[in-house]
Amino acid sequence: MTRMLIIGPPGSGKGTQAERISERLGVIAISTGDIFRANVKGETPLGIEAKKYMDAGDFVPDSVTNKMVRDRLGEDDVDNGFLLDGYPRTTAQVDYLDGILADGGQLLDVVLQLTADDEELVTRLLGRAKETGRTDDNEAVIRHRLDLYHGQTEAVVAKYAERGILTRVDGIGGIDEVTDRVMQAIKEAQSA
Ligand code: AMP
Repeated sequence: MTRMLIIGPPGSGKGTQAERISERLGVIAISTGDIFRANVKGETPLGIEAKKYMDAGDFVPDSVTNKMVRDRLGEDDVDNGFLLDGYPRTTAQVDYLDGILADGGQLLDVVLQLTADDEELVTRLLGRAKETGRTDDNEAVIRHRLDLYHGQTEAVVAKYAERGILTRVDGIGGIDEVTDRVMQAIKEAQSA
């Protein structure tokens, strides 16, 4: 049973690593960014609401995001664990997630933070923009997303560090190399 979070700045490769962890550990990866993007594509009411914020690089309001996560974590396929990618991003979301988990009598095992230098991230994201056409990957929006990460999400990381469940992994390097580091870190965290 694994219940874990993966946190990292935009462009740190958390989505890619989350998919790999999910395959190797047999847990479902849930990415709030992916759920939002699927809704934007499907032009659902949730997607139409979220798009305004996503295109500006802002956080989608908690009133939308929290409920979406609660609903998703209430589905049967997460009974055997989950890997949340991209949530929580604010300390208010940490509190909300604590509430969801407490309601289900559940605890988090591991919180993994991928680290990377800002300039490296900007370079990577500008490259990704060319490949994927993501509308939130232009330089001004990228810098804004990084500012939010430093201003808000690092406080999330600090909370989990205080609880003693944080493990940090250097996200710079080849994808396989980073996956090896990530899997080793999870193994160590779970046996600690
Ligand atoms: P990501 O794919 O994780 O980089 O997320 C893409 C975008 O989705 C973010 O820039 C936000 O606009 C939105 N988003 C994803 N997760 C959250 C969250 N936990 N809280 C608020 N907005 C989010």
